Parts: sequence; C-alpha cells; structure tokens
Amino acid sequence: MVIKIDKQPIPITEIEQSAFCQTDGELASKTLEQEFDSGVRWQKLPVSYMRTSPEELERKISSAKKKLGDKVVILGHHYQRDEVIQYADIRGDSFKLAQYAADATNSEFIIFCGVHFMAETADILSEPNQKVILPNLTAGCSMADMAHGDDVLDCWEDLTEILGEGAVVPMTYMNSTAAIKSLCGENGGIVCTSSNASAAFDWAFEKGEKILFLPDQHLGRNTAITKGVALEEMIVWNPFKPLGGNTVEEIKMAKLILWQGHCSVHTRFTTGQIDSARKTDSTVSIVVHPECTLDVVQAADYVGSTEYIQQVINDAESGTSWGVGTEISLVNRLAAENPDKNIFCLDSVVCPCSTMYRIHPAYVAWVLDGLLEGVVVNQIKVDEKTRKFSKIALERMLSIK
Ligand code: SF4
Repeated sequence: MVIKIDKQPIPITEIEQSAFCQTDGELASKTLEQEFDSGVRWQKLPVSYMRTSPEELERKISSAKKKLGDKVVILGHHYQRDEVIQYADIRGDSFKLAQYAADATNSEFIIFCGVHFMAETADILSEPNQKVILPNLTAGCSMADMAHGDDVLDCWEDLTEILGEGAVVPMTYMNSTAAIKSLCGENGGIVCTSSNASAAFDWAFEKGEKILFLPDQHLGRNTAITKGVALEEMIVWNPFKPLGGNTVEEIKMAKLILWQGHCSVHTRFTTGQIDSARKTDSTVSIVVHPECTLDVVQAADYVGSTEYIQQVINDAESGTSWGVGTEISLVNRLAAENPDKNIFCLDSVVCPCSTMYRIHPAYVAWVLDGLLEGVVVNQIKVDEKTRKFSKIALERMLSIK
C-alpha cells in the first residue's frame, strides 16, 4: 500500500481554463504570439509561425493541404475551435475519429486536431505504416491527467490484495491515457465511450461483481444509476489518500469504485443554470453530456455523447429552443448550423475546452510544412506492450453491441 499526501494538485489545464473564459462569447482569431501573451505555456514554435497572421496561416494551410493531397488526413474533434475545424477532413468525437483513422489506410499521415489521448488511440488503431501527429504536444486533457498510470496501478494492487484476483473488472473511459487502457486490457477489462458506457457496464457485470471505473467519476456514476446501482453501493477512490480514502469494509461492500476524476468543462454546468433557462423560456429543452454531475444530468431532458447531442438538435423541429450543457465551440457551431432554432450554452460565461484550444492554426501550418519538407514533427507513438493490451481493451469494446 502506498501512502500519499492528502492534497490534490489542480492540473495546470484547469488553471489555464480561466485564460480563455469570456462573457461575450467572442473567441476572436489571434496570432499564436498574442495567445501566448495571456500567460499560457504551450509548445514553442519557430518565431515566424508565432507571428503569422490568421489570414496568412489560412493561406499556408490550404496550400500545404492541396500539395500533400491524400497522403494526409486531418481529423477535427467537435470541441476544436472553428479556425482549426475548417481544415478537418472529418469531424467527430474521439471514438468516431479513431475509427476513421483506422479506416484511412491510404493516408500515411494522420494529423489529429484533438488532445493527446485521442492521438494515442488513433495510433493504436491505425496501421503500422501510418504516422499520427498531434500538432501541439501540450494539448492534453485535464480529466486524463487526473489518472496517472502509477496511481492507478497502486489502486489496482490494493484492490487485488483486498478482494482477490478477478473480483473487479477495470473499465476506462476513452478519455484516458494509453497506459490506463493497457492496464484494463491486461486485467480482463474494457474501454468505453460516453455512447456505449451502458453496454460496457452490462459486459463488465457479467465478468465480475465489481467495476473500477476510470477516470471520470461522473460518467461512471451517471451510467451506474441507470443500471440500478444505488449511490450507497458506490465509493470514490481518491489517489492521494491511503486506500483511496476508504476502509477495507467499504471497499468490500462497494459494487462500483469510481476514480476521483472529472472534466473541467462539463462540471461547470449547474442545476441553477437549468432552472434559470426554464424560467426564461418554459418551452426550452435541456440536453447535457454525461460528464456533467448527477444532479445536472437528472435535471436535464436529454443526456448523451457529443454525437448524440448533435443529432438531437439537428433533428429537432424548427422554432424549438435548446439549452446545451457541453463545450462552447460545439454549441456555437450547432447554433450557426441550425439558425431556425434557439440554441444556447447553459453557462453564460463562455469557456472552451482549454486543452483542445491549444491547437492553434500556427501549429497545423508548422506540422504540414514539416511534411512538405519530409520531416515528421510531433509524432505520437505508443510503445508495443502498451499498444498490445490497449488494443485488447478497445477490441472488447468494439465487440459489444
Ligand atoms: S472537454 Fe473535458 S474530457 Fe474533453 S478533452 Fe476537454 S477536458 Fe478532456
């Protein structure tokens, strides 16, 4: 058992969040040098890229893309800023993009405009001859950062010692490092996404009596409630406390062990915001992501993944009103693409996912120019052992209905 200090540091990504939160909803295009002025510490680039104007970057990227043709595919996550998503050959959530990467066997280079764990997943699922590039290596994810491999391994060893081999099935949300996915694959576990978490829970409860769910406690709790697991049957594992802050008895009683992680974007939404939206417009429908807290999910009318949220709103009748609890770049895009509906973010302070936001067009221009010169910069490569077991956990997920 490892004793740790009872103090959880705030991931740098959460602190950075405030740098780009605004009340006017305007996230204007700036040079990378101007964005660095807000105090962020992202990957350094040659100074010429730092100072290139948004218009010049647009010209450079379009021209490089044209020259590279099918050799390159650019993937853009739904939460990516508009200045970057415009270059994406396909948009989607992390899973859809990883699957697309696996199918894009004609493209030697996959430029992933998302965050680190997504690029790792694309590398795991792609062919050995394909190279996955993350334009800015500091584009991580505050949630994935909350579950370090060593901490999860300590937890796993504690659980195995107390409960015995095979009693707990490890399950990790797609939003986790390859090391965590690998630990799940090696120990009879599975990966899930926000769209298939329910089926993954069924799969896991057939294999064992308990689940260790990583790293998002809210997705785990929200899904378990729908499976009939009572709140009293769930415990939270705080990696900074001995036994995660639990007694041996509590661990033995629990059906679900939730890792103490969360998304800094989705936990901003509150029931107060929902009440206020309903007070302003009694016809409004509320749709939120399952990374929101349980009270928010229970107060909403619809809950689902980013793909689900998109579909519900795109399919809604003209004239309807929607309060949305997810990342602002996606909400703004949905509003622009559905001008006949009233679509707004539940949180009036506009906060983008600060880690997605780290992919500035200057980085995209830099990696594309590198490829034109035959240089691969920022390749994401998962080592063989991690890749092998992560793939097992991902394939288990793909095998469930
Ligand atoms: S929205 Fe939340 S979970 Fe998704 S990449 Fe950003 S911080 Fe991570």
